[in-house]
Amino acid sequence: MSHRHLCDVTGHWWECDGTAVRLGDREPSICTCHGCRAPLEQGDHSRCKNLVELVACPEHRDEQIRRTEKAEKEFERRAAKFGLDEKWARVKALPVGPEKDALAEEIVKWLFA
Ligand SMILES: [Zn+2]
Ligand SMILES: [Zn+2]
Ligand SMILES: [Zn+2]
Repeated sequence: MSHRHLCDVTGHWWECDGTAVRLGDREPSICTCHGCRAPLEQGDHSRCKNLVELVACPEHRDEQIRRTEKAEKEFERRAAKFGLDEKWARVKALPVGPEKDALAEEIVKWLFA
């Protein structure tokens, strides 16, 4: 019995035969049941409370890695432009007070903009 995952690259379902490569991993690992922690391909999990795991399908795995790398590079570029490292160092060096608060707030705003 196979199970399904939701591929979060384009948002479609795919059939999994028991192991999948998770983001950040190079090797596939066994899919386990959220309910009983046993491998999903062993036994009957129809009564288990199973959450759907988001895993990129084999077809979109490369795409997901590329996207992640691109997002990281983009963040680094923006961070350099913003001067994140220097601002961080200044926040840490400043004594507690309005100046420290203002700068910390500026960083937080930028991070979640
Ligand atoms: Zn799986
Ligand atoms: Zn189970
Ligand atoms: Zn996919």
